[in-house]
Amino acid sequence: MVKETGFYDVLGVSPKASPDEIKKAYRKLALKYHPDKNPNEGEKFKLISQAYEVLSDPKKRDLYDQGGEQAIKEGGMGGGGSPMDIFNMFFGGGGRMHQQRERRGKNVVHQLTVTLEELYNGTKRKLALQKNVICEKCEGYGGKKGTLQTCGSCKGRGVEIKVQQIGPGMIQQIQTMCSECHGEGERFSAKDRCKNCNGHKVERKKKILEVHIDKGMKDGQKVVFHGEGDQEPGLEPGDVIIVLDQQEHPVYQRQDDNLYMKIEIRLVEALCGFKKTIRTLDGRMLIINSPPGNTVRS
Ligand SMILES: [Zn+2]
Ligand SMILES: [Zn+2]
Repeated sequence: MVKETGFYDVLGVSPKASPDEIKKAYRKLALKYHPDKNPNEGEKFKLISQAYEVLSDPKKRDLYDQGGEQAIKEGGMGGGGSPMDIFNMFFGGGGRMHQQRERRGKNVVHQLTVTLEELYNGTKRKLALQKNVICEKCEGYGGKKGTLQTCGSCKGRGVEIKVQQIGPGMIQQIQTMCSECHGEGERFSAKDRCKNCNGHKVERKKKILEVHIDKGMKDGQKVVFHGEGDQEPGLEPGDVIIVLDQQEHPVYQRQDDNLYMKIEIRLVEALCGFKKTIRTLDGRMLIINSPPGNTVRS
């Protein structure tokens, strides 16, 4: 018996859940509540990450089951990783992203819902994404070459300093990013600014990715498109990572490379034998034959 179920509840699993079930629950929730997709659910994203960090580690899970959240805190075993690090580690790109954070754009993770038939037979799926690409007109420069000027508003510092009186004889200085040049310190005059991207250097474009689903791929498997993430001048684009999410099948359950199905039979069929036809995932009909005298037990 576990002391408390808080972390299990956050992930929506039972305290008896297998490591695989915990992984799967984290995967679904983390994608749903990732700040990229759900900017208002940062707190929820943090809770999911915390719960997963503890429950995915057998030692920490043991400790939690015995002593609850208190034991994790006292043991100094909680809150080690930032939610983003846990996410990146789980979805790939972990260490590499850390190293190359400066030169590389971030990875984008998307979930693709697939049927068991699609995983069994293999298929191609098209996925439309919106992404930033370097502006074609100005080649990522933002305006006419050679016309970039020091921002007059911030004198090239990229920040503005506002002085506010907050009481008699008391003033406060607030430093904010320059709104004219967005902190760059340089800007184009209106006539030199690229009309296509409005000086933003990138434009939003629709991109169709063709996802090849090979026969036998699994729920949770990743398909990586290298360098298909958002483009930004001076940065190598990150990857687009597609995570397959298999829908429940009405008839078959998959366990590793085997398929299971349950069929209901009547008592008389169990005792006297039966013949039934079942449909396979690739549309073949199979006949199951249980000869008389061969009693079926459940
Ligand atoms: Zn400025
Ligand atoms: Zn442009």
